[in-house]
Order: sequence, then structure tokens, then C-alpha cells
Amino acid sequence: MSATGVDFEINNSTNDLEVKILSNLYDMNQKTVACSLHGTQKIGLLCTHLAHSLLDQSSVGFHEYNDGDLGRPDAWCHECDAKLQKVTGDSEQEQWFLACDYKILCASCWDEAKELNIR
Ligand SMILES: [Zn+2]
Ligand SMILES: [Zn+2]
Repeated sequence: MSATGVDFEINNSTNDLEVKILSNLYDMNQKTVACSLHGTQKIGLLCTHLAHSLLDQSSVGFHEYNDGDLGRPDAWCHECDAKLQKVTGDSEQEQWFLACDYKILCASCWDEAKELNIR
């Protein structure tokens, strides 16, 4: 936890764009996020690999599931999907969700990730 309370990991590879994408301020009541690139937007969840694919512009595959209560469906990469295929119970599902390390991104960033990764 950093002194500013911003919820993202600081490491040596952190660059400005990474901070921009991964440090969005989420408004839980409004279900919106203040994206430093796109402004106030609805949200979408991306697994950490998809979130980072925006940074290095690499394609990691795209899977989504729409539960309908957010701006965009949840989405995850091929690697996470392979793990999901082995999930059997609820507790394993929960473990899987945690392992994906979902990031809250704005809907526009989510759309960019989808476009990048469905190729
Ligand atoms: Zn993933
Ligand atoms: Zn954005």
C-alpha cells in the first residue's frame, strides 16, 4: 500500500502509461471510473494479462462473460481461460478469479483491449 492510497503495484517496470491504466479511480456507487486517458467512463474488468497487453500491445487472446451489471463484460486471456477449464467448484472459481488479478478499466480502454486481442 502506497502512502497515497492508490491501489496499484509500483515496481521497476512501472511506466507512465501503466500508472495511467492501472490506477483508475473507481466510484463504487456510480459504477464509473475516472480514466486518466478517457475521462469518466463506465467500467469493465480485464485480467491482469489483458490490462498489460494494452501496455506492450501484445495479443494474449480474449474471452468474455457478460453478467450484465457493468459497462462491459468481464474479460480474460487464453492463459486464464485454460485455467478456468479446470475449475470445478465455487471455491476454485474464487481462487481463479483472484489469480486473474482483475483490473478495473474504463469502457474505452476495455474496447481497445478487445480490439487488440481478438485479432
Ligand atoms: Zn489472463
Ligand atoms: Zn480509458
